[in-house]
Amino acid sequence: MRRNIVAGNWKMNNNLLQTEALLQELKMQVIPENVTVMVAPAYTNLYHAFESVRGQAIEVVAQNMHQSKNGAYTGEVSAEMLKSVGIDTVILGHSERRAYFNDTNAVLAEKVNTALENDMQAIFCFGEELEDRKQGEQFEVVKAQLEQGLLHLNEEQFKNIILAYEPVWAIGTGETASPEQAQDIHAYVRKLIASAYSDTVAENVSILYGGSVKPGNAKEIFANPDVDGGLIGGAALNANDFMAIVNAF
Ligand code: PEP
Repeated sequence: MRRNIVAGNWKMNNNLLQTEALLQELKMQVIPENVTVMVAPAYTNLYHAFESVRGQAIEVVAQNMHQSKNGAYTGEVSAEMLKSVGIDTVILGHSERRAYFNDTNAVLAEKVNTALENDMQAIFCFGEELEDRKQGEQFEVVKAQLEQGLLHLNEEQFKNIILAYEPVWAIGTGETASPEQAQDIHAYVRKLIASAYSDTVAENVSILYGGSVKPGNAKEIFANPDVDGGLIGGAALNANDFMAIVNAF
């Protein structure tokens, strides 16, 4: 079912005490009923965060996971481990994972499968680099990322996917895609999903936008018919800014 979602990706920020302090601030706020709010703390703080927000309208999600069930993968975390600490949703394919940790489309296809096999939802990130956009190749790049990483799923499986369009040139740069640029890609992606599956599947998938979303620009971005919320980096580290974005629908 298509939902408005605002998800905060805390990246490698906030130790345990800072995680709890930020959660305390968020817990004091009223979460509007028309928005699903998610936060993604670091692995070390997931269990604490899950317990801390228990019973509140805030879902704790993971920033990544390994594709294998278990084994000799030093430093990695499996889907089963995430599930065991209460995590049901994982962000996959963030551009930083793609750029620094070799999360290729093929690896991401495996990670998506593993998440679904473990009854998890995935927030699947994709988006073009600045060079792609300068060449006018953003649609092709996005199509290839989706086709190679995601569209092997069948219709039933796809219901567990949330999409997040994140143009790499807009992440952490202060540079935001214009509302029109975001809407253009989101509408294109929804059409792609309709032709891969059906109009109903396309209508029901939530497509988030990510890239320097702030309190000052969230409203005009979320106002687009095919933008169903945001994946928020920097602004998610400040409770007031994050909540202003949550309240921007
Ligand atoms: C992100 O990392 O997903 C992101 C969108 O970051 P920022 O909001 O800081 O651009």
